[in-house]
Amino acid sequence: MVLASGRREEQRPCRGSGGTKRARHADSDVRTRARNADPENLARLRGFLHKWGPDPSLVKEQVVPTPLSLDRTRKALAALEAPIARAIASARARDVDEQQVAVARLADLATKLRAAQDLAAYAATAGAIYQEQAAVFAGHVASEVARLVRDNGGEHGLGASDLPGDETQTFAREALADERVRAIGRAVAQSKGRNDGPLDEMLVLARDAARDFTDSEVAPHAERIHRNDELVSEEFLSKMAELGYFGLSVPEQYGGVEMGNVAMCITTEELSRGSLAAAGSLITRPEILTKALLAGGTEAQKLHWLPKLASGELMVGISVTEPDVGSDVAGVKCRAERATQDGVAGWTITGPKAWCTFAGRADILALLARTDPDMKKGNAGLTLFIVPKPRALGHEFEFTQAGGGKLAGKADATPGYRGMHSFTLNFERWFVPAENVVGGEAQIGRGFYLQMGGFSAGRLQTAGRACGVAQAALEKTAEYVVDRVQFGKPLIDYQLTQYKLGWMAVQLAAARAITYAAAAAMDEDERKASPYAAQAKLLACDVAVAVTQDGQLLHGGWGYAEEYAISRYVVDAQVLPIFEGVKPILQLRVVGKSLLGG
Ligand SMILES: Cc1cc2nc3c(=O)[nH]c(=O)nc-3n(C[C@H](O)[C@H](O)[C@H](O)COP(=O)(O)OP(=O)(O)OC[C@H]3O[C@@H](n4cnc5c(N)ncnc54)[C@H](O)[C@@H]3O)c2cc1C
Repeated sequence: MVLASGRREEQRPCRGSGGTKRARHADSDVRTRARNADPENLARLRGFLHKWGPDPSLVKEQVVPTPLSLDRTRKALAALEAPIARAIASARARDVDEQQVAVARLADLATKLRAAQDLAAYAATAGAIYQEQAAVFAGHVASEVARLVRDNGGEHGLGASDLPGDETQTFAREALADERVRAIGRAVAQSKGRNDGPLDEMLVLARDAARDFTDSEVAPHAERIHRNDELVSEEFLSKMAELGYFGLSVPEQYGGVEMGNVAMCITTEELSRGSLAAAGSLITRPEILTKALLAGGTEAQKLHWLPKLASGELMVGISVTEPDVGSDVAGVKCRAERATQDGVAGWTITGPKAWCTFAGRADILALLARTDPDMKKGNAGLTLFIVPKPRALGHEFEFTQAGGGKLAGKADATPGYRGMHSFTLNFERWFVPAENVVGGEAQIGRGFYLQMGGFSAGRLQTAGRACGVAQAALEKTAEYVVDRVQFGKPLIDYQLTQYKLGWMAVQLAAARAITYAAAAAMDEDERKASPYAAQAKLLACDVAVAVTQDGQLLHGGWGYAEEYAISRYVVDAQVLPIFEGVKPILQLRVVGKSLLGG
C-alpha cells in the first residue's frame, strides 16, 4: 500500500516505545493454568496454531480453554430454536407496523441464530478453530435469547419458561469464556487474520485467483482512488472483464462464466477486501441487471444484452432511488411516456433520480419509471427500462439527444465508497426505444418485481462485499496489534486486545457462513432463498461496521489517519447497511415479513 509519504504501509515502522519484534511475557498464573490444561486439548490447539501461525510452542505460555464439542454447540442452538419460534408465532397476531421495534429485534436475533447454525455446519468439516468460533457465536446467541426473554419477553409473548435451560446456560458460559475468545484472537494475530477457510477445490481456485488479482491490481490503487475521489480506470475495467468478473452470473449460453452464487460471493469478497467501490462493487450493477433480464427479459433481449454485460463492453448503473423516494420504491415518480422519434416507437423519461452509482461512466442505466400515471397503482404502475446514455468520466455531465431529450448528472460528495461516484440525475424527455423495456409489452407494469428480483441478488452480493471489507479490517488490525508496542509490550499481548480481535474474527466467521449458505440456497431456488440473502446482508453489513470500527479503535489515533487503510474501511463499511435495502427496511419489510409469513 503506497502511503501519501511515498512509503509502503507494510514497511512503515510501528509507532511505539519498542521495536517491532514481539516480546512475550507470560505471567505465572497463566503458566500454572497452562500446565494444568488437558494435554489432548493442548495438542489440538497446537495443531490449529501450527496451521495458522508460525510458532505453536507459544501455546505453552497461554491459557488454553477446553474446546467445546460441536455436538454441544449444535444442541444449544437447537434448544434456542423454540423460544425464537414462539416469539415469531406470537408476532404473527399483529401487523409488522404495529410492532416495529419487536419485529426488528426478532429479525436480528433470528438472523443471528441462522448464522450460528450455518457456522456450526461449516465448522463440522472446517476444523478446530472454526468449531471454537462456532461455539462462541452460539454462546452469544444464547445470551441474546436470554436477554430477549428477560428484558423484552412481554413484547414477544415469552415468559420465564422460555429462558435457556441449565444445559444451554452452562454451554453459553463456557463458550463465552474470555479465555476462549482471547485464544481465537491470538490465533488470528498469528495467522495475520488471513482467511484460508477450507472450501471445495473449485471455490479455492476462484478465491486464489481473485485474491491474486486483488493484491496485484486493486491494492496498489485503492488508497489513491479513495483519497483523490477518482473514477476506476479503463485499464482496470478491461482487466476485470478479461477475467470474466462481469459475467459471473451470466449463463454460458449468453457469453458468461456462470459459476454459481457461492463463487460469485467469494470473488466479490476478495475484490472488496482490496476496495469496496473500486473493485467489489463493480460487479453489483451487472449482477442486478443480469438477474432482472434472466427473470423477465425476452429471449432477444437476453441474447442482445447479456453477452455485452458479461464481456464488460457495457457498464451499468442502477437507477431506482429518487430524491423524495427511497425505501418506498412503489412510490417512484419518474415517469415514462410513450413517444415516437424518427419513426422509432419508444418512451421518453422525465424526472429526477438520486444516488445512481457509476451513472457517469455507465453506458446503460437499469431505470425504474412510472408508466401508469395513476399513483394509486403503486408498484403495479412501474416498468423497468434499459436506458442508453453516453459515457462521462467526470463528476458532472449534461447530454442532449438529437430529438431534444436531456440528461444531466452531478456526483454527490461522500466520505467513502469512492471509485464510481454516485449521481443525482435529471431526465427531461430522454428518449428510449420500446425494445429497451425489460420483458417488452408483457412486462409493462411489472418492473418493480423484476427490479426486486435483481435486488435479491444484489443483497447477496452486498453480503459478500461486507465480508470483504471486514476481512480487510481484520487483516490490517491483526498486523498492527502485533507490531505496535505500548507500555513495553505489543498490543496483542494485552488480554483486551486478544479478546477484541477474537470477537472480530468470530463475528466475521458467522457473517461469512450465512453469506455462503444463503448463496448456496440461492443456487437451489432464488425466489425461495431471497429472504435468506436479505438475512445475510443484514448481518454481514452490521458485522462490517462493527469490525471496521473495532479495528480502528485498536489502531488508536493512527486508525483515524488517512495514511492507514483502516480509516478507509470504516467509512466504506458505513454505507453497507444503507443501500440494497436500508437496514430498518430489511429488518421489517423483508426479513421480518418473511419470518411472520407475510
Ligand atoms: C453511496 C450510495 C450509493 C447508492 N447507490 C444507489 C444506486 O446505484 N442506485 C439506486 O437506485 N440507489 C442507490 N442508493 C440509494 C439507496 O438504495 C437508498 O439510500 C436506500 O434505499 C434508502 O433510501 P433513502 O436514502 O431514501 O432512505 P429512506 O427511505 O428515507 O429511509 C431513511 C430512514 O427512515 C426510516 N424508515 C423509512 N421507512 C420506514 C418504515 N416503513 N418503517 C420504519 N422506518 C422507516 C429508516 O430508519 C430509514 O433508515 C445509494 C445510496 C448511497 C448512500
